[in-house]
Amino acid sequence: MNRNQEKKRRPRIRRAAADAGRVVFCASEAAPLAKTGGLADVVGTLPPVLARRGIPVTVFLPLYRQIAAAKCRREKIAAHLYRTPLARGVDCYLIEHNHYFDRAGLYQENGSDYPDNLDRFAFFSLQVLKTVRQLRLQPAVIHCHDWQTALIPLYLKTRYAHDSFFRKVKTILTIHNLGYQGIFPVTEFSKLGLDERFFSLDGLEFYGQINLLKGGLLFADRLTTVSPTYAREIQTIDYGCGLEGVLRQRAHDLTGILNGICPREWDPQRHPALARQYGPDTLRGKLDNKYALQQRCGLPVSAAVPLVAMITRLADQKGLDILSRVMESICRLPVQFVLLGTGEPGYHSYFTALAERFSNISVHLRFDALLAAQVYAGSDIFLMPSRYEPCGLGQLISLRFGTLPIVRSTGGLADTIEDYDPFRGQGTGFVFDAYQSGALLEAVKRALCVYRQPARWKALMQRGMRADFSWEKSAGAYARLYRSVCGQKSPERA
Ligand code: ADP
Repeated sequence: MNRNQEKKRRPRIRRAAADAGRVVFCASEAAPLAKTGGLADVVGTLPPVLARRGIPVTVFLPLYRQIAAAKCRREKIAAHLYRTPLARGVDCYLIEHNHYFDRAGLYQENGSDYPDNLDRFAFFSLQVLKTVRQLRLQPAVIHCHDWQTALIPLYLKTRYAHDSFFRKVKTILTIHNLGYQGIFPVTEFSKLGLDERFFSLDGLEFYGQINLLKGGLLFADRLTTVSPTYAREIQTIDYGCGLEGVLRQRAHDLTGILNGICPREWDPQRHPALARQYGPDTLRGKLDNKYALQQRCGLPVSAAVPLVAMITRLADQKGLDILSRVMESICRLPVQFVLLGTGEPGYHSYFTALAERFSNISVHLRFDALLAAQVYAGSDIFLMPSRYEPCGLGQLISLRFGTLPIVRSTGGLADTIEDYDPFRGQGTGFVFDAYQSGALLEAVKRALCVYRQPARWKALMQRGMRADFSWEKSAGAYARLYRSVCGQKSPERA
C-alpha cells in the first residue's frame, strides 16, 4: 500500500474503532503500578494502543499499598476512589479498601495466599460496577481479566440484570493463565451474594468447591486467551485444568489473540539499564552487556563461552521439573548459566545448592526488573522450556535483545518462535516438542552447535531483533472483537 492509500484508509479504521464505544478494563494488576507477571504487562500496555486507535479505555485496579506508596500523581475523585494516569490517554481508577488492599503482597505473602482472597476480589468486582455506574462512564464493553474479575459478568447478569444503565453492556473475559482459577471452599459461597442456584454444575460449582474463573467462562459474552495455540490447547484434557468441558461448550465464543510487547520499552537501542545500547546493525554493543553481566555475576569474562539465561517464576509450569533433571548435564557443558527468578521454595533451595557446586552458574532469587533487562541484553540464549505457556513475554523480549530463545512448542511459544532450519537458514530460535528433559537437553546442544557458527548466529539474532511483536496487530484483533460483541444480539439475562 502506498502512503496516499494508507492515509485514505486510516480515518476509516479510527471511526470504525470508535464505534465500539468505551471499554472498561478490570484487572488485579497493571504495569507499572502493580505487577507480579505477564497480566500486568498486558493491562499496562494494551489500553494506550487501543486509545491511539480511537477506542476510549478506562482501567480499574485495587489501590494496593505499593501503588499508594509510589510517587505517581493521584487525584481523589470520591470517597475511597482515586484516579491516576496509567499511560497516555488512559486513566486508571483505584479502588481503596485499606483492610483488603493495604498489604505487602497482591495475592499472597511468604508463599501463602491471603485467606480472604475471595472477599477481596468479590468486593473489587462489585465496587467496579458500582463506580462505573456512579461516574456514568457508560461502557460498551467491560473487559475482565483472570479469576480476580471473573465474577463481573455473573454480577451483571444477576444483581444488575434489570439496571437500564448496564442494559447494553457486553463482557469479555481474557484468560491469561488457566492454571489460576480462584478456587475457594463452598463455605464461602454465601459471601458472594448470589442465589444458591449458581452453586451448580452450570454455575460456580467445581468438584464441590467454588471456582470463580468458571463463572466468568460461563457468563461472559466472549472469551479470549492470549495465543491461538493456547486457545486450542485449553479445550483438551491435558491443558484444560478441569475446565476443558466448559471451554469446549463455549468454543464458538473463544478466540486466541497474541500478546504484544511495547517496542519502545524493550528497545536495546535506548534501554537505560544497559552497559551499552545496541541494535541489529550495532551488535558489538551487545558484547559489552555480556561482559558487564559476567562481571556482575562473578563469572569469568569471556566472549566465546555461550551464556544461557532464564528469567522466570520458579514454578512447575515453567518447565523447571524437566530442567532440573538435566541441569547438571547443562552445567557440565562449556556454558555459563544465569538464573533470575522467584517462586516455589523447593526450587530456591535446589538452585542455591547447584550454584554452590558449579562455578559457571549464577543464581538470583528475587524479582529485579533492572537486572532482568541486563540479563536479556547480556546473554546469548534464553531458556523457556514451559510445560504450558499461554503466551509468554520472555521469549519476545529476548528476541528484541538479540538473545535467541530455546522454547518448548506450546501455547504462545509455538505461535511466536520459529524453529531454526539449517537448510533454509530460517527461524528465530530453537523449538522442541516433547515435554521431556532429553528433548530439552538436545535443543540446548543444537543451539550451542549453531552458536559456534558466528555468521549463522548473527543472522538469526538480526532476524529476531527485527521481528515485529508490537501490540498493533493484536490491538486490531481486540478492536474487531469489541465491535463484533457490541453488534451481537443481547443474550437472555438470568
Ligand atoms: P508469567 O506471566 O507466566 O510469569 P510471562 O513470560 O508472560 O510469564 O511474563 C513474565 C514477565 O515477568 C516478563 O516480563 C519477565 O521478564 C518478568 N519476570 C519474571 N520473573 C522476573 C524476575 N525474577 N525479575 C524480573 N522480572 C521478571
